[in-house]
Amino acid sequence: MVTGGQAIRGTRVGSGPMGEMERGEDAPGTDVTFHCSKGHTTTVRFSAETDAELPEQWDCIRCGLPAGTDPANPPDPPSITPYKTHLAYVQERRDDAAGAALLDEALGKLREQRGTA
Ligand SMILES: [Zn+2]
Repeated sequence: MVTGGQAIRGTRVGSGPMGEMERGEDAPGTDVTFHCSKGHTTTVRFSAETDAELPEQWDCIRCGLPAGTDPANPPDPPSITPYKTHLAYVQERRDDAAGAALLDEALGKLREQRGTA
């Protein structure tokens, strides 16, 4: 699969006065419009020369969110892992401390057993 926008012609939709004089007249393509969850539209022209299947999703050129071909049902934005809260850090440290204590206890028992052996 070819990735990267440079490989795709005609992505500059409506850019510049030369837009209407597309050289693609003899190179038919398919314009596909993708809709992101923020309501942006991204139109991508896929060359008919390639046999590649049209993708179901495309990264929005405006916000980078995944965009789909169905305007009524855009793909959900990827869930972003929230930053750890201070409380989470504290709890984690507590767990670490408890784990260390348990380890010490276990080691202590081992030493006792070895001492008596
Ligand atoms: Zn967008």
